Amino acid sequence: MRDLRSLPKVELHLHVEGSARPATLREFADRDGASLPHGMGSDGWTFGGPLDFIDNYLEERAAWVSWRGIRILNTTEEGTA
Ligand SMILES: [Zn+2]
Repeated sequence: MRDLRSLPKVELHLHVEGSARPATLREFADRDGASLPHGMGSDGWTFGGPLDFIDNYLEERAAWVSWRGIRILNTTEEGTA
């Protein structure tokens, strides 16, 4: 068997801002009475260009911090991380 320490490594991760389903974002916003990023419509995302994409990303990022959803993501079996 090959020594795992000698194998090449990669880091794989997701950003919640880019991977959460629109339905999940709507669910959290409805539940918490919060607003969605301005580019989130009933059919998904619409961006007016790269800077508008960044604006939406920042709005969603701020929303995740305010939504109770982020507390779920930070919760481990041992408690809140
Ligand atoms: Zn990253």
